[in-house]
Amino acid sequence: MKTIVWDVDDVLNDLTREWFEKEWLVTHPECNISYTQLKSNPPNELLNIDVQDYLRSLDHYRLLYGSKLKPVDEVYSWFKRYGQMYRNIVLTSTPLFYAPYSSEWVLRNFGAWIRSFNFLPSLREESEIFNYDMNKASYLKLFDKVDLFIDDNEKNILEARSIGINCITMPRPWNSDTSTIKEFLYNLITNHL
Ligand SMILES: [Mg+2]
Repeated sequence: MKTIVWDVDDVLNDLTREWFEKEWLVTHPECNISYTQLKSNPPNELLNIDVQDYLRSLDHYRLLYGSKLKPVDEVYSWFKRYGQMYRNIVLTSTPLFYAPYSSEWVLRNFGAWIRSFNFLPSLREESEIFNYDMNKASYLKLFDKVDLFIDDNEKNILEARSIGINCITMPRPWNSDTSTIKEFLYNLITNHL
């Protein structure tokens, strides 16, 4: 049975879109950028704010509404149809304080198929947590067998690919994959597994 390693934020959920449309645009009505124009992530330069201010806003949203984030419809439907044909693992970068909430969300929504939650603590100003791994590629080396790694962050994809891991990018405005999520999921099965 093949093993798929999934990212969480902006792959299983729509964190950036929900934060941007329900928090940022609401509190910054003067902002004239739309979600599809977020060509970089983190988007702080586009929004003309300090990266720490961006992270504070995102973390604030996460704590208030993270448990209510909706799974991406198409991805959830994919799991219902194909999930049991593969072993599914999560590898996410998330701040240490949020990892318990993120794991709860993953297992509550995807626990029928995802049985393993792994994370790298994202850097935060106030947290001095050590990291065993500098990036996801280094963490992925721990696994005996990774048949496919899925992420929306092209840096993560390039680093994993550089150590020989089969990867596919979840299409998002800030990466170069211009396919639809439906096309991405079709491609995932037909060309990557
Ligand atoms: Mg992500």
